[in-house]
Amino acid sequence: MYDSGCFPFIKSDVFESEDLNAFIGLGKQDTTRVRLVIQRELTTKGSMLETDFSKYSYLVRDVSMHLPVNVGDYTDFYSSKFHAENVGKLFRSEEDALLENWLHMPIAYHGRSSSIVVSETPIKIPSGQVASENAIVYKSSDKVDFELEFATVIGKSNLLGKPIDINRAEDYIFGFCLLNDWSARDIQSWEYKPLGPFLGKNFATTISPWIITIEALQPFKTKALKQEGILPYLRAACPTTYNINLSVSLNGKVVTRTNFSKLYWTLSQQIAHHTINGCNLRVGDILGSGTISDEQEKGSLLELTYNGEKPIVVNSKKITFLKKGDEVVLRGFASKKGLKVGFGKAAGILTNEL
Ligand code: CA
Repeated sequence: MYDSGCFPFIKSDVFESEDLNAFIGLGKQDTTRVRLVIQRELTTKGSMLETDFSKYSYLVRDVSMHLPVNVGDYTDFYSSKFHAENVGKLFRSEEDALLENWLHMPIAYHGRSSSIVVSETPIKIPSGQVASENAIVYKSSDKVDFELEFATVIGKSNLLGKPIDINRAEDYIFGFCLLNDWSARDIQSWEYKPLGPFLGKNFATTISPWIITIEALQPFKTKALKQEGILPYLRAACPTTYNINLSVSLNGKVVTRTNFSKLYWTLSQQIAHHTINGCNLRVGDILGSGTISDEQEKGSLLELTYNGEKPIVVNSKKITFLKKGDEVVLRGFASKKGLKVGFGKAAGILTNEL
């Protein structure tokens, strides 16, 4: 509806771009105004959109969804304490589960933006170096996994050398989408020491095509988990997070339901920490939350199956890790007193060939 004349305050041709970067780059003043106009048009009887709906709208089934932003940099955090403890126990030991730095800062690694794909893109099972019982071999991964994550899309750049204050961090967020950090556990567990994830992760990352703006989530704000002993630059005046229901379906069956608010480190802490050394974030960058697990629920098959030792049953079939033809769908929504905001889905099917 950009040619409808509803947005005379937007002077440039940002709506004709193939991605949202230029639009987001206009800044909150313009993007929130566009949002309010669309809201008004959708909810006012006799509005242009309501009276001429078919002219300005398409059915989702009639269009192809694309990546919403051109992702410059992608960082993946590791901010769920439950997930970090579960993985630490499996990769190391009960005593050594949470490494000594984990409670002091939001740990992350720099991911790969070139292999971020939009929902419904098939995922090719990767091959790589794997440590088998007696030898190091090159083979197709037997341990392809999903990771249930939530992604922040950066809406404002900070200058190189200028950290973002934790109490201003949300000003730098445009919105959010769902993210599946596909992981080959056999490749990952051999390569990760000492520098962390590499080829076990960067073969594909799926995101959902819709960005839910941070303004849309304000009714779902809630208190963040209590923390102690953190440095001042990570202490917000009023630590908050968002109440968002998340789930994973495997071949049509839900295998995990959890909530974004179970994350230990908040989005503001992730942004404050990411920039505390002067690192600059840019419009369209994506920050993955890290796999979201909680007391009962687990956001990856690594955790659900105890690294493949205790298969789960899905549609009467025992599952340890993903195989060709398996489909994973992440979904999310926030709801409160008649309000509901949906995130759509981040879906992908495993294949041997593209
Ligand atoms: Ca991850």
